[in-house]
Amino acid sequence: MADRRAELSRNLADVRERIATACAAAGRDAADVTLIVVTKTYPADDVRTLYELGVRHVAENRDQDAAPKAAACADLSLNWHFVGQLQTNKARSVLGYADEIQSVDRVRLVSALSAAAVRAGRTAGCLIQVALDAESGERGTRGGVAPDGVEELATAVAGAEGLRLDGVMTVAPLAGPFAGRQRAAFERLMEISSRLRADHPAATMVSAGMSSDLEEAVAAGATHVRVGTAVLGVRPRLG
Ligand SMILES: *Cc1c(COP(=O)(O)O)cnc(C)c1O
Repeated sequence: MADRRAELSRNLADVRERIATACAAAGRDAADVTLIVVTKTYPADDVRTLYELGVRHVAENRDQDAAPKAAACADLSLNWHFVGQLQTNKARSVLGYADEIQSVDRVRLVSALSAAAVRAGRTAGCLIQVALDAESGERGTRGGVAPDGVEELATAVAGAEGLRLDGVMTVAPLAGPFAGRQRAAFERLMEISSRLRADHPAATMVSAGMSSDLEEAVAAGATHVRVGTAVLGVRPRLG
């Protein structure tokens, strides 16, 4: 336990240092970038330790893992982000703990989340997940809507009871014109964010960058980075 705590503390310090360095290089204030630690596949004990080390934002990508973990950590004032592909029949469960749904990618999901939020008597934040490798009108292989579908979805979220439109999210694509070009991908996301903010000025969140490319995301202007491996270690399985 003590070893694990020391390991997490060291990794966290490294990641915070990377963010600070990237911010300095970009002329940005380090306080303008929020670290979200992706705790998927790791136990609630690690979440608790991270909280003790000052982490306030955590993310999960599977409801069946996230729900019990969030319940085990219900005494901590943590912000839970949901970042995985989401089935409409999981909306109600996810609304039980998630403060921010980062993977909104279709109108049917907006309806399901809105109904669940109303039923739970709460408001949840939503990010539109953009698939930079998806063709017009399609969804990406890792979730997300094609760039030309963002506006329709944003309008749907903005008009949905119980939901708040907070911004956009992306995962750097492995295929298509942006494969291997993280900086260009994140700059494209920033353009999409600017266009979105013209109609929805409060939708300022830009969630981009993971363990391997957080510097590129900070350089492009991300407000939130989602870091798993660099804090918790290499996951035992793909998750
Ligand atoms: C797992 C995951 C991350 C974190 O990835 P690492 O490479 O482990 O930092 C970020 N975003 C999403 C959507 C993820 O599923």
